Amino acid sequence: MTRVAVVGAGIVGLSTAHALRKAGAEVLVFEPGPPGSGQSAGESRIFRHAHDDVRLASFVSRSRRLWRNWEAEFGVELVSGAGAVAIGDSVEDKLRVLSQLPEIPAEMLAPAQLAARLPILADFRGKAMVDADGGAIRTRAAFSALTGKLKDALVAEHVLAVRHAAAGDVEVRTGTRLDRFDHVVLCAGRGTAGLARGAGLDITVELAAHARVTFRVRADVKAPLPTFQDASGVFAETGVYAAPSADNRRYAVGLSETTEVHQDGSLVDPTSLDVLCARASAYVRQALPGLDPEPLDYVHCWVTRLPWGDDGVGIWSTGKISAVAGHNLFKQAPALGEALAETALSGVVPAVLRPESQLGQS
Ligand SMILES: Cc1cc2nc3c(=O)[nH]c(=O)nc-3n(C[C@H](O)[C@H](O)[C@H](O)COP(=O)(O)OP(=O)(O)OC[C@H]3O[C@@H](n4cnc5c(N)ncnc54)[C@H](O)[C@@H]3O)c2cc1C
Repeated sequence: MTRVAVVGAGIVGLSTAHALRKAGAEVLVFEPGPPGSGQSAGESRIFRHAHDDVRLASFVSRSRRLWRNWEAEFGVELVSGAGAVAIGDSVEDKLRVLSQLPEIPAEMLAPAQLAARLPILADFRGKAMVDADGGAIRTRAAFSALTGKLKDALVAEHVLAVRHAAAGDVEVRTGTRLDRFDHVVLCAGRGTAGLARGAGLDITVELAAHARVTFRVRADVKAPLPTFQDASGVFAETGVYAAPSADNRRYAVGLSETTEVHQDGSLVDPTSLDVLCARASAYVRQALPGLDPEPLDYVHCWVTRLPWGDDGVGIWSTGKISAVAGHNLFKQAPALGEALAETALSGVVPAVLRPESQLGQS
């Protein structure tokens, strides 16, 4: 039986381990903290098909089918059926890309249709669309289901180094262990580029910090709520994204903007996360009167962006070590896990995910 180590139990690592098990591999997942406490932290993510790169829209469409398969397998809803709404002139470009993939139901919304779908939004008369098969990813349910399946595979250790050993296999060193595997997959989020460098893979990742704030949905608002992206600039911000909690009583709002960090991970401006949170609250006051603008909680996290775009993703591989990097990967995780499992077992990275393909170009 092929022995594979996965480093990192974020959504991508767990998806990879799950796919490897299904393919018959023996898997260990190294993760020092609670699974899902890195970039995957917090409740809800947006599932949307609309991307600048039609190849990514198609990859995400495959991921949507796999999320459905997981719902059947785990017996729990993992993506809400309430759709993904977007507003602003850029919806025309999004719909143009999606029109190349007829299996994805997406359409323009008239102002009255928008108000009915997103009753928390202030009056908006500009361009709007809905991606009907999009929605809010139930992050907590996904982690609960995946960790339930994989609990016997989890090793609570921080990996210090990974390298090809003289015996032809791959060595994984942690604080207190030395293990050997037929293949190692690096899904360590912010830690991936460093571990990959030690194994001979050079991955350029732009590191930044990001904040998202959660607000209470006012009691009279009718659920279920879709996810939301605002590129319109009508409400003073040009890049806002938002998603409801599973019970639809809370709504998390973030600016797409990130804040600069030094290479060692420290913030260039220590007040910058607070500034992003204050701007999210100011936006809610103007644009989302269906929310109480008093913040309930926060997600502060790292962003690992590839040079070719905010949605860029790629798999790097050398010998028996593979690594994945990118941003906005939650929605892609089931398809990415499948692709990483395939890479680990065949030694070949699917063509569209090779770095030279620059999947997810802006
Ligand atoms: C606020 C916010 C909103 C977002 N919104 C969206 C969205 O709407 N839609 C979307 O698709 N995506 C979104 N994203 C991005 C998405 O959440 C991430 O791309 C995704 O969760 C990354 O998952 P991952 O498994 O690659 O990384 P992580 O979740 O960071 O997992 C990596 C794991 O590796 C572990 N690790 C690191 N170093 C080591 C080591 N040396 N040894 C062992 N373990 C190690 C870490 O502890 C961590 O648990 C958002 C992200 C944030 C923070």
